[in-house]
Amino acid sequence: MKNKTRKSAALYKSAVQLMPGGVNSPVRSYSAVGGFPLFISRAKGPYVYDEDGNRYIDFVASWGPLILGHAHPRVVNAIKRSAAKGTSFGAPCRQEVELAKVVCKSFKSIEIVRMTNSGTEATMSAIRLARGFTNREYIVKFEGCYHGHADYLLVKAGSGATTFGHPSSLGVPKAFTNKTLLARFNDIDSVMKLFNKYGRKIAAVILEPVPGNMGVVLPKRGFLKELRKITKDDGSLLIFDEVITGFRLNKGGAQHLFGVFPDITCLGKIIGGGLPVGAYGGRKSIMKYVSPDGPVYQAGTLSGNPLAMAAGIATLKEATKKSVYKKLDSNTNIFIHEIREIIKKLNIDAQINCIGSMFTLFFTNNEVHDYKSALGCNTKIFSRFFKNLLSAGIMFPPSQFETVFISMAHTEKEFKIAINSIYKALKEL
Ligand code: PLP
Repeated sequence: MKNKTRKSAALYKSAVQLMPGGVNSPVRSYSAVGGFPLFISRAKGPYVYDEDGNRYIDFVASWGPLILGHAHPRVVNAIKRSAAKGTSFGAPCRQEVELAKVVCKSFKSIEIVRMTNSGTEATMSAIRLARGFTNREYIVKFEGCYHGHADYLLVKAGSGATTFGHPSSLGVPKAFTNKTLLARFNDIDSVMKLFNKYGRKIAAVILEPVPGNMGVVLPKRGFLKELRKITKDDGSLLIFDEVITGFRLNKGGAQHLFGVFPDITCLGKIIGGGLPVGAYGGRKSIMKYVSPDGPVYQAGTLSGNPLAMAAGIATLKEATKKSVYKKLDSNTNIFIHEIREIIKKLNIDAQINCIGSMFTLFFTNNEVHDYKSALGCNTKIFSRFFKNLLSAGIMFPPSQFETVFISMAHTEKEFKIAINSIYKALKEL
């Protein structure tokens, strides 16, 4: 592998002199699995190519946004056309209205939406709105759910915060997190306890309805419904962070799938088609609190950027075409079934949590249903598996606690190669 990736190695050597860990987002580094990250020079369809010209079947999909695969011609053309007309106006543009229309039409619980530049901004703003709307201060979050890197949400967060063993970050004053209450995913009693103690002081409960940041974890039957009931009875808001699941599981997100509708929804990733975007929205009576209509301030120089809007509109146009999600789900199911067969055949302590076109292969015998059970996985074995796969030209996310994404660009050909490689990678463990 080393000889094959000389240019990436040289770039990494420079990068670490210039950027923390050589990267601009910690999850991209290979700290959890060892070695250095590959530097990608281009990507097309299901493939990424590193600086040395090696090709990999990509199952990271830029951590979720690229549901159509890389450089989809319709998305690229939309960006090109938009860029030729100017990259930012600092004034409203038609594309913002168009994307907002698609979002509001697709999500039953969203009447009004505000675009931001990232998922982090979306969740941060949603919490501010919930606090402003309810005039309460406490929030409830779940262990292992990641909502971006706002101070008060970096408590037992998943994703990189788990991968790197800093569930709580340095630099976050205690005063910023002492209004964040922690509950356990899939454990309604842990939520009830908090409501019994802090009831009528809790502004909102925020969660990924299907967490993807401790690896994929499925909500147990009735869990989301119970949360809806508890929050409603108490007068606090329910916030679904659908930054990953929005337009990934289907047109209307996890809320549509489970028939549980939150007060505020956060979106990102897919709605930007690979460009920087986030969004939060809900019913009019709540959203009217947002500036300039109301007293909750939130803004962004580049929010609603025409290029990002154009990429999002083009992506959603393709993704929401008839039977796209059906095809994605059935492709994923077939793929997962074959991996499960391999696990059985090789008698490996591993299992898969899967929903729609997202899944995680956990190296443990135990059911993974919350943060604690996710942390019980064998990360050393995962690292070896990851490296075996990478040398075979298959790129999985470089952490046990992340989600593998299938895109529309993955065809039978790529699945077949991937299955062969997964078989070998697991056999070599
Ligand atoms: N919420 C969820 C569920 C996420 O997975 C992420 C990022 O991975 C975020 C929020 C933060 O989004 P961003 O990285 O765009 O700030």
